[in-house]
Amino acid sequence: NKSLVWFRRDLRAFDQAALHHALISSNAVHCCFIFDRDILDGLPAADRRVAFIHACLQELDAELRALGGQLIVRHARAADAVPQLAAELGVDAVFVNGDYEPQAIARDAAVAAALAQAGIAFESHKDQVIFEKHEVLTLAGQTFSVFTPYKNAWLKRMAAEPMCVAPWPVEPHARRLAPPMPGSALPSLKQIGFGPSAGVLPGIPAGMSGAATLFEDFLGRMPDYRHARDYPAVKGPSYLSLHLRFGTVSVRHLVRTVNELAARGAGGEGAPVWLSELIWREFYAMILFHHPRVVDHAFKPAYDAIRWEAGPKAEADFAAWCEGRTGYPLVDAAMAQLNQSGYMHNRLRMVTACFLVKDLGIDWRWGERYFALHLNDYDLASNNGGWQWAASTGCDAQPYFRIFNPVTQSEKFDAAGRFIRRYLPRLDALAEREIHAPWTVPPMLLEHKKIRLGMDYPEPIVAHDEARKRTLERYAVVKAAA
Ligand code: FAD
Repeated sequence: NKSLVWFRRDLRAFDQAALHHALISSNAVHCCFIFDRDILDGLPAADRRVAFIHACLQELDAELRALGGQLIVRHARAADAVPQLAAELGVDAVFVNGDYEPQAIARDAAVAAALAQAGIAFESHKDQVIFEKHEVLTLAGQTFSVFTPYKNAWLKRMAAEPMCVAPWPVEPHARRLAPPMPGSALPSLKQIGFGPSAGVLPGIPAGMSGAATLFEDFLGRMPDYRHARDYPAVKGPSYLSLHLRFGTVSVRHLVRTVNELAARGAGGEGAPVWLSELIWREFYAMILFHHPRVVDHAFKPAYDAIRWEAGPKAEADFAAWCEGRTGYPLVDAAMAQLNQSGYMHNRLRMVTACFLVKDLGIDWRWGERYFALHLNDYDLASNNGGWQWAASTGCDAQPYFRIFNPVTQSEKFDAAGRFIRRYLPRLDALAEREIHAPWTVPPMLLEHKKIRLGMDYPEPIVAHDEARKRTLERYAVVKAAA
């Protein structure tokens, strides 16, 4: 019997659930990846993520070839191409790893139905998360909507089932990989309609080897993570989000490593905090799976009644936010980081999101969409969860009356302005106490430093204290429900 493994968010050839299960149950295993036109056709030609995926596929193909197989790559609608390829190859089953996004669930259902018509089985495995769907529930068998009890239940289950982080080995069964077919090279980026965005992922190496390098580097820093992770000028976090998004790293391997460190008393204060972040990722995936309405609605229905700013002023404010022209240096530097690199530090995602929603009064969905287009690590569940957290509309969100002050956030988390200076070099002449709010610096002094507000750097587009009052009024409609 023959099978086909359809790679999607799992671009690795080790510890891979679908690949493992295909190999142990078939005599010949083909592997494929489809550049899905349903997703790609809506993206700009310079999309960095497509370049990243392309680089990952090159490494995956090389790795599979080293094991005796190959990666068949097509550029088509996945919903058509997978059943077609399965029929061409004459396989009995298609193996995938489960995806929890509503569109992916619908696509998989369509593929499974088409395959069933041809008598081909469709087998989905858990790979992207440690615990999925209904695996972590309240004592009453309900899904959680608050993080801390979810996390406690998650940790309890992991302790009770150590095998949940065991790897799904590939190499020992690799002789069952179907040998490469002649004339089946990976299409170039140009052939699939994308420009080379090489070099636009600064410091983020691609592929399984890239993920391994980043994790290795992070392991040495993990003990400091608890403190270092909040300061955007410091190399604090792991930068693995993009790799977790595309599965070039195995989450089981990450969690296993954290557990091993903890068991040896290594990993310090940082290890449990980092594990907690990985659990947030699963929490939001679970929320999206059970509440797909969050894609365009507030998790808490009462919050859908909030009236956001609209019209030309809101559109102009939104454009200023997107382009990093708000006049608040930390917000503008953060948006410059996103626009230039496709990455934004977690603290800054919270600050910029809160600024858009609570200082500018703009619908969180506008910001969510902008992040979705520009974040390399864009993940529907985590992005939606993060935005709804900042907007206070989400399941376990910050209360609506908690409104970050962009200046105090800046003073606290970028005290010397190191991050701001990196992305807004035109403010470099400002002293530490000045750089967080240039409009408070006497004009004579600014002139001396050759900074003309409104010309070299924008005046603030909103006064935080007034915006704060308007936000509290705006959210009054949900007071009763809060
Ligand atoms: P680390 O600090 O090293 O964390 C390790 C991993 O844990 C991350 O790679 C990520 O997979 C997970 N993680 C960390 N924080 C969170 C979190 N708050 N929620 C869910 N998972 C988390 N993360 C994404 O992966 N994709 C997104 O599209 C995304 N959008 C966001 C939007 C907003 C408004 C906010 C506030 C947060 C968003 N996050 C998103 C979460 C978080 O900011 C990023 O995961 C993190 O900054 C990635 O950097 P890192 O890999 O160095 O993280």
